[in-house]
Amino acid sequence: MKRAIFPGSFDPITLGHVDIINRAMDLFDEIVIAIGINNDKKYLFSLEQRLQFIKDTFATNKKVKVQTYEGLTINYCKEIDADYILRGLRNPADFEFEKAIAQTNRNLSGIETVFLLTSANTAFISSSIVRDVYRHNGDISSLVPDSVTKFTLE
Ligand code: ADP
Repeated sequence: MKRAIFPGSFDPITLGHVDIINRAMDLFDEIVIAIGINNDKKYLFSLEQRLQFIKDTFATNKKVKVQTYEGLTINYCKEIDADYILRGLRNPADFEFEKAIAQTNRNLSGIETVFLLTSANTAFISSSIVRDVYRHNGDISSLVPDSVTKFTLE
């Protein structure tokens, strides 16, 4: 079974993440979206909310699972028997940052990171910009899946 994990904060999940997951679907038997818990980081949406947004978005997709984890991503990969880490690349800054992490992870564990290039129509989307727009009462509906939009309109 080819299992990949897609690690991140997902604060909140965006259409950029959804695009990467949908396009990776044919490459793997299972994709575990893994929300990393970092106690030093402040999040806008609670862990429960971030989990629920992802569960709702992929409710009908049997290949996609959602989990949370603490600690090193490679340790979590070993725990759930995932051989691949999936990451999205938007720009050279993402590439430079991701390169060092991927090389370290492979050096420490042999786990390969698979990168997919963002689609042109979602390349500009980031969770941090979504949070800014949301904080200032802007319309985020074109940037996030419906589960997030619905929650923010309640
Ligand atoms: P992190 O806290 O690790 O940056 P994020 O939740 O922001 O986590 O992102 C998780 C992954 O999704 C990263 O690989 C990131 O590059 C990718 N990603 C984020 N936004 C997009 C996008 N618009 N297009 C493609 N990949 C994206």
